[in-house]
Amino acid sequence: MLKFFITTFGCQMNIYDSELMAGILHEQGFQQVFEPKDAGLIIINTCSVRKHAEERAFANLWDLYHLTPKTAKKPIFCVAGCTAKKMGEEIFRKYPFVDLVVSPANIYGLPKLVNTFKKTRQKQLAIKNQASYIKKNFPVIHANKIKALVTIMQGCNNYCAYCMVPYVRGAEISRPLKNIVAEVRGLVKKGYREVTLLGQNVNSYHDGKNDFTDLLKKISSLPGLLRVRFMTNHPKDMSGTLIKAIGKLDKVCGHVHLPLQSGSDRILKAMNRGYTAAHFLQLVRKLRQAKQDIAITTDIIVGFPGETKKDFQKTLSLVKQAKFDAAFVFKYSPRPGTTAAELADDVSAAEKQQRLEKINQAQQDIARKLSQSLIGQQVEVLVEDLATDGKNLFGKTAGYRTVIIDASVAPNQRPATSDQQLSLYIGQLIPVKIITAKNWTLYGKSAINRLHRSNTISSK
Ligand code: SF4
Repeated sequence: MLKFFITTFGCQMNIYDSELMAGILHEQGFQQVFEPKDAGLIIINTCSVRKHAEERAFANLWDLYHLTPKTAKKPIFCVAGCTAKKMGEEIFRKYPFVDLVVSPANIYGLPKLVNTFKKTRQKQLAIKNQASYIKKNFPVIHANKIKALVTIMQGCNNYCAYCMVPYVRGAEISRPLKNIVAEVRGLVKKGYREVTLLGQNVNSYHDGKNDFTDLLKKISSLPGLLRVRFMTNHPKDMSGTLIKAIGKLDKVCGHVHLPLQSGSDRILKAMNRGYTAAHFLQLVRKLRQAKQDIAITTDIIVGFPGETKKDFQKTLSLVKQAKFDAAFVFKYSPRPGTTAAELADDVSAAEKQQRLEKINQAQQDIARKLSQSLIGQQVEVLVEDLATDGKNLFGKTAGYRTVIIDASVAPNQRPATSDQQLSLYIGQLIPVKIITAKNWTLYGKSAINRLHRSNTISSK
């Protein structure tokens, strides 16, 4: 039986693809291992969105190569993901020890590719687009036992000037609603309590009959499921109907990731984003009106070609106005083949770094204040596991903040809660009173013993 090891770079779509590869290989009798030295097949699932992510993936590929035998026992090396699609055969030339190059649309054929390589020792290149691949249903092995990622669509039609996704993942294609519902039902049966519906732009999901609002309503109605999340969103496709649904559906978590990218209309236009800063702020207001305490997170690129100090100030000012719960800030790097790569990368590295730090600093202040405003409040937490110390629990709020739950009890409260008893709370929604807060992590207390005695565990 061939043992495989997978390492993943990039976004949640890639994490899902890795889980899918694990499921497909497992179904064909392969066994997953978590140490590369134990593996006969090593898969590096790469990301090409940013130069840095690509470089890290290839550095890791070299590390893994140096760690493993060079003799007849050399493992099969497979480069998968967006960079496989982007570079194709070039990977074989640059990294001669790589045996398989497999793009995201071809991971479904992975077992066959591995077996063909084993028989023929011929390198296998599978990078052609396959329009129908996402319509199929395949087994997925989820890393987490409580919450699962579920891909609802692949690809993107937006062609933002800086982004490679439409080139490496192809045009948008949505899975039929009934397939997604069947997958989520199956997950609930297995004990999963939260799903995150994934796509490059979930707002434009459409299977021919149903749009994303229909899908959210359907998934939220499934008994036994406690929480629904989704990502990522595009501001230009965030409709009023969808915002209303997010507000009304209790199981839909109060967390929306809404990538801003820039606060300057001039740069947004150059990025081909299709919205203005004013429209973005309006969406933020509407989301906050629709759902109390909704957390809004974002992505920002600094140093896009032609971004002046004035453009940057507009971004900084928008960050302060929008008061995001978190912002992921990136320095622009040209990606070959994109339209922005043809523009002069004219903001210096030092300037990009300064701009990144300025946004991070402003954002940290905002995030800390927002987290501190939760002190003294009771929040609902989905318990994911025991904390690393084994004595406490950890979970997430609906707004995706991490909460460490102090499960200790006063000496006069008996019986003391054992680790085993604590484990009973994994996968449950429990009320937690927040005692202290850092930027993104909250620390709270829950009346675990009282809950345990009365078994008053919330299950929507
Ligand atoms: S919406 Fe833009 S940034 Fe997002 S995946 Fe599509 S092209 Fe890339």
